[in-house]
Amino acid sequence: MKLETLTHALPPALPPSERAQIEKAYQVAEKAHAGQKRASGDPYVQHCLNVAYILAELHMPTAVIVAGLLHDTVEDTVLTLDDIRQDFGDEVAQLVDGVTKLAQLPRVSKEGNTPIDRHTESLRKTFLAMSDDVRVVLIKLADRLHNMRTLMHVRPEKQARIARETLEIFAPLANRLGIWSLKSELEDLSFRYTSPERYREIASQIVEHQADRERTMAHIVSHVRRALQTHNIDADVSGRPKHIYSIYKKMGRKEVGFDEVYDVRAVRIIVRDQPTCYYVLGVIHNLWRPIPGQFDDYIATPKDNFYQSLHTAVVYDDGKTLEVQIRTPEMHESAEYGIAAHWRYKEGSKRDEAYEKRIKWLRSLMDWRQDLADAGEFVDAMKRDVFEDRVYAFTPHGDIIDLPVGATPIDFAYHVHTSVGDRCRGAKVNGKLVSLEYHLKTGDQVEILTAKRGGPSRDWLNPDLGLVRSHRASQKIRQFFRRQDREQIITQGREVLEKELKRLGVEDYSYENVGRKFGYAKPEDLFFALGAGDIHGRQIAARVLEDEQAAQAKRQVPTTAPRGVVRSDEIAILGTRGLLTNLARCCKPVPGDPIVGYITRGRGATIHRRDCPNVLYHKEPERLIKVSWGQAQQTYPVAVRITAYDRDGLMKDVSTVVAEEHINMASLSVATKNSIATFEVTMEIADVEVLARVLARIEQLPNVIEARRWKPG
Ligand code: MN
Repeated sequence: MKLETLTHALPPALPPSERAQIEKAYQVAEKAHAGQKRASGDPYVQHCLNVAYILAELHMPTAVIVAGLLHDTVEDTVLTLDDIRQDFGDEVAQLVDGVTKLAQLPRVSKEGNTPIDRHTESLRKTFLAMSDDVRVVLIKLADRLHNMRTLMHVRPEKQARIARETLEIFAPLANRLGIWSLKSELEDLSFRYTSPERYREIASQIVEHQADRERTMAHIVSHVRRALQTHNIDADVSGRPKHIYSIYKKMGRKEVGFDEVYDVRAVRIIVRDQPTCYYVLGVIHNLWRPIPGQFDDYIATPKDNFYQSLHTAVVYDDGKTLEVQIRTPEMHESAEYGIAAHWRYKEGSKRDEAYEKRIKWLRSLMDWRQDLADAGEFVDAMKRDVFEDRVYAFTPHGDIIDLPVGATPIDFAYHVHTSVGDRCRGAKVNGKLVSLEYHLKTGDQVEILTAKRGGPSRDWLNPDLGLVRSHRASQKIRQFFRRQDREQIITQGREVLEKELKRLGVEDYSYENVGRKFGYAKPEDLFFALGAGDIHGRQIAARVLEDEQAAQAKRQVPTTAPRGVVRSDEIAILGTRGLLTNLARCCKPVPGDPIVGYITRGRGATIHRRDCPNVLYHKEPERLIKVSWGQAQQTYPVAVRITAYDRDGLMKDVSTVVAEEHINMASLSVATKNSIATFEVTMEIADVEVLARVLARIEQLPNVIEARRWKPG
């Protein structure tokens, strides 16, 4: 790339003084990096120039482009920040400083000297920088994009790691900032290295079908354009490109073949204003039959990243599906450039509001997370709360509360205020009472019903019940319990464990042994951890029961012959695609443990526990594959007794929960006396985690007093 390529990409109206700044920055970078080479053999300044060019394409202001040219000088050359400040002023110096700080390795603590820790620490810095000055992150994204474009020159073992990091962090980050063009290119480039075979497969199929597809699309586009012209609508109609990675994701999500995904034709219609969008929708629906359930109004209810458009799908003339997006030029700009669209306009325009909203939202994400001491915890929280899809719900006053998908009224309450969360007892959504496990949807108006005093329930932390989704809410709930005095916490922790053990019908245990098993020197420490909500009673009880069952299994043969039994020395592993498998000796996984497969050289796959250090710190993570325990496990009959105040539909609710957990009921009897119903059920259980979960879920059903394991006779 030549300097002229960059200067040609600058807006023609750019004042000559700013143009001169950019040219000067190029000269400074070239001189500073003189003699340095990229892995490709190119002079290093090529990287700086390319980064600046990407920023210019996003229409970033001059200071950002200048900083893009200089972004590696302080890190990699003799130039200092003061030199930059003297030549280019404070603003540029601050931007370069921000980027440099992201790149510098963090202080390395004694025990934390693992690649993973360094990696998470630098990610944490990226997130924090994002709230300070989002322009720094845009430079970082441009830097990453050029590094991805030139990744073929890098050593293969580095390629996979960088690509995975890009796919997991930087592409979602670009998506979160709404910069669609960066996001899809980062995804496609990474996918090429993380799954080279799949990439090649899809790419070659695209090439094979391309000519055909382009012909059909040209046809459809001109048809739509003519149809709109007869209604005197001036519209920009175009086919929508498909990206390799998005095709791949769709194939996985909908479990369909390439043809089915690729066959879907999509057009984008851009019209001058919002009312025209709806008018065009009417015209399209009149011409072709709309497919029910495919219409989405993201104009009235914007998507999580502020995306706006009308989406619909219709049956086209040839009987195949045609997807249609309708939007205004402003919505289009915002969809393509996201947060970067802000700099394309003069201050004070409407786009400024959208920018302010995004910035405010980014800051709100950071404010409480800064307190998280542990870099790993911070990054996890960010990944969970930032990169997953979001729902936006409203308070009765119309304030927006931003939550992860799957969030419940409890999450909502904690996001409004800690004291609202602590006292949350119920909720109304759109005026109707809902249960606390209700999953909020975008647009829901939520009113939290609170008690005058009192605190959260420990059940809220039980992962089986799905009552809390956001990291923030669970953090706040744990804080509540931790604030009580130690004695009280210990007493409560003991009660929790006793209740769980009773529920699972475990009788023979000593707290000393249980505590030691989990690494607590004294039972009190175990109780404290339980009482403070750091661990959940179910986890403990399930492990205790597991041991009991293992001991039992040694003594006796199972009484029933469950379906799909395998010999006990064979374990069905799903996901290994016919590879020979064996269980790792280092961590000895047992059914129920979270596991991961490791492709060995010539000996098939070894199955490790997911928390096994040999896996966590492995240098070739690309050899890990996703596996799970198969269905064909040994099952045990477990007698369960449920007591409840009788009501209509109770039986159906219980069976639904049991069926949802894929548990077979071997027998069932019900007796009702004085309006108390007692169910005696024999369940075929393969895994104690499932037993613990199904009992907890049944206990949550309305009217149920207790659900527990019992010993018949
Ligand atoms: Mn760089």
